Amino acid sequence: MSESSASVTGNILDVEKIRKDFPILSQTVRGKPLIYLDNAATTHKPISVIERVRKFDAEEYGTVRRGTYKLSEHATRLYEDARQKVADFMGAEKKGEIVFTSGTTQAINLVAHSFGKRFVSEGDEIIISNIEHHANTVPWQVLCEERGARLKVIPVDDDGELMMEEYEKILSPKTRMVAVNHVSNALGTINPIKEITQKAHAAGARVLIDGAQSTPHLKLNVQDIDCDFYTFSGHKMYGPSGIGGVYGKMDLWEEMPPYVTGGDMIMQVTLEKTTYAKPPARFEAGTPPITQVIGLDAAIDYLNEIGLDKIAEYENSLLEYGTRLFKEIEGVRIIGNARSKASIISFFSDSAHPHDMVHFLDQDGISCRGGHHCAQPTMIRYGVPATTRASMAFYNKPEELDALAESVQKCIRFFS
Ligand code: PLP
Repeated sequence: MSESSASVTGNILDVEKIRKDFPILSQTVRGKPLIYLDNAATTHKPISVIERVRKFDAEEYGTVRRGTYKLSEHATRLYEDARQKVADFMGAEKKGEIVFTSGTTQAINLVAHSFGKRFVSEGDEIIISNIEHHANTVPWQVLCEERGARLKVIPVDDDGELMMEEYEKILSPKTRMVAVNHVSNALGTINPIKEITQKAHAAGARVLIDGAQSTPHLKLNVQDIDCDFYTFSGHKMYGPSGIGGVYGKMDLWEEMPPYVTGGDMIMQVTLEKTTYAKPPARFEAGTPPITQVIGLDAAIDYLNEIGLDKIAEYENSLLEYGTRLFKEIEGVRIIGNARSKASIISFFSDSAHPHDMVHFLDQDGISCRGGHHCAQPTMIRYGVPATTRASMAFYNKPEELDALAESVQKCIRFFS
């Protein structure tokens, strides 16, 4: 099947114009035009982000919070403006509810450690799902080991949807935290996080949503979801690496102890005792990734300019098209067929191991991911060692999916 670009995606976005914003996309790989389909791992940066970072470092850089001179005051203002921008982007009530971290991994570790220390005791329970990234699995396992709590798991059906009736069965007055992703990085499933949150709250539990995969694709309002924490990673949102964060309800932050300690997170230090700053500073010890925060601010401007609604609509059309293509390829099984999915196609073929498959695709200039995607329990659930994953962004085109499907077929023939 090869349909025209316009018939697949209509006029939702001017993709050719958008692609010009991303310098890296115009390069060739092994003599072929680069087809970048590993956006769930990390996204490329538009020129506006690259330029903003360059200008900030060249002309505006200074430390934040500490200095009383012009450069420092300016950098501090930009840093706090960026916090407001993230708060608006996520629909948070107050900018102080946003804590910057290096990304989702650090954000979940922060919450698991700090929330756990304050609220989790022996005999309590934490719930995750069977389709979590290791970043939303291991910190909770460690917390449970340390505090004598129990980890419970929401099972997933053959299509990749969480089994909500099983979730209700494992929720109990002992549940302290329900931690699930909004979008699964291994399958693309969009989870019903509002319903998950309502049910958790009815049982007296708190909710953390891992938003690493959703923030680049879906319009968000944390107040509407009513979750207690929501994480994100800048490098998956067309921003710099090394920056991300977590939204948390202010009343919870206020009750939580620090995770990392040192400079900037204190109210007063004597040799005998330290008192802590109010959130968010309490959770941002040390000099933060200042330049990366400024880059994140520019990335959010870029996303807002295109519009998350349009992004979701465009990427949905790509996903539908790609899914149709892959369903026609003999010997390929799509892993993850949830009714509600973001732009990820994970697939497996008995003919070629995903590691061989991605090397093969790379020869055609196609960057795809082969592996367990830091979601080994998901792979175990579906009885596969790994999958090949094509993850699309709004700068991808239907023609690139045609090229991918062709290369996959070539690969299967080669290894059969
Ligand atoms: N959670 C999910 C669903 C992810 O896809 C990822 C990264 O792939 C992470 C967490 C970890 O994000 P980071 O590596 O940016 O900390």
